[in-house]
Amino acid sequence: MPDFAALRDAMVDRQLAGRGIRSAPLLAAMREVPRELFVPEGVRDFAYEDGPLPIEAGQTISQPYIVALMIEAAGVRPGGHVLEIGAGSGYAAAVLSRVADSVIAIERHGALADLAAARMARLGYGNVRIVAGDGSAGWPDAAPYDAILAAASGRHVPDVLKRQLKVGGALVMPLGAPGEVQSLFRISREGEDDWAQHDLGPVRFVPLIGAEGWKE
Ligand code: SAM
Repeated sequence: MPDFAALRDAMVDRQLAGRGIRSAPLLAAMREVPRELFVPEGVRDFAYEDGPLPIEAGQTISQPYIVALMIEAAGVRPGGHVLEIGAGSGYAAAVLSRVADSVIAIERHGALADLAAARMARLGYGNVRIVAGDGSAGWPDAAPYDAILAAASGRHVPDVLKRQLKVGGALVMPLGAPGEVQSLFRISREGEDDWAQHDLGPVRFVPLIGAEGWKE
């Protein structure tokens, strides 16, 4: 069996710190969360490769660097209350839970949501709640959030989502059609009715499917 702890440390050093990720709590969280427990057994040995991997329900777990880039860009920090849309394997939510105080992560595939919740329970990550359902319009019940991350590519930035941010908070979300190169955006809430949008560069994500996303 590979030495996963050593591979994890090397991943953080080379793929994250080596590419400019600076947040100390985030780097520590990514040294802690065992990514090998968030992927199917058949791809476990590749858990610390520099790329996305296939997971159950035909979905993917994002590249570690993209997970870190999104968390850093959203300004997630200790004390924060965070929403993730597209929990998938639960890996990014687990990392978020090691940095922030509370995390809600929504996943439209019930089977993935169940697996993610079981992983949180096994690891004792009690400050993350996995919800099954369409998260394209966010989760107003627990709003407002310091940060919102969407791990699937939308067709627009839903107004309802922008309004679930605290003033001073940020939303990080890819936009663009399925199968095409998309752009990752950071939308920060500058005031009650004031948002600023920055393009963080090209990415490739599965589509955000739902009321405020694409049709299935
Ligand atoms: N963050 C995940 C992880 O760490 O494994 C990777 C997420 S994967 C790239 C994107 C996920 O978004 C898929 O599992 C997909 O089912 C989910 N998804 C797509 N549309 C959604 C929606 N409207 N609400 C919730 N989840 C959605």
